[in-house]
Amino acid sequence: MDIKSKIDIFEGFPKEGISFKDINSLIRDPEAFKFVIDEFHKIAKALDVNLVCIPEARGYIFGTPLAYLLNVGLVPVRKPGKLPGEVVAEEYDLEYGTNTVEIQKSAIKPGDRVVIIDDLLATGGTMKAAIDLVEKLGGEVCGALFLIELTELKGRENLKDYFVSSLVQYP
Ligand code: IMP
Repeated sequence: MDIKSKIDIFEGFPKEGISFKDINSLIRDPEAFKFVIDEFHKIAKALDVNLVCIPEARGYIFGTPLAYLLNVGLVPVRKPGKLPGEVVAEEYDLEYGTNTVEIQKSAIKPGDRVVIIDDLLATGGTMKAAIDLVEKLGGEVCGALFLIELTELKGRENLKDYFVSSLVQYP
């Protein structure tokens, strides 16, 4: 399937100069949605993981059906203040300012094998923060999966120690 033909592009959203890749057009097409989940499943089943980690919010969309197919658990990474109980936090840099993400301490045990999935790889900052959270709790990150990779932003360099796979690439 030509996945790119299912992804709408909005020039100048959310601000001028950005060419926004909109996955909403893909996920409302049931054949396209099933196709990408099946592709993720083919890649992830070789990684032999026992957890799928899903950064809020668009990681949830792809990670939830993937965990169901793999028959493994789901671990959300969320914005601060959303998760109850003890959490660990990671701050990372944005183009302007910083962002913080959190994970529950009880979510990962040492030795857990984890795949992390998100919609889009840009600079890799979001994924690297999720990786750091999993590793702080002793989990092993077996792979980072994306639907879309923006290759010119060189996010892979930020993730060079990990298995990275994307289903479609744009400059
Ligand atoms: P990074 O941390 O720089 O790799 O940015 C990745 C995050 O930015 C992902 O979680 C995406 O949801 C979001 N993002 C950046 N550009 C786009 C886009 O064009 N479409 C959809 N999401 C985007």
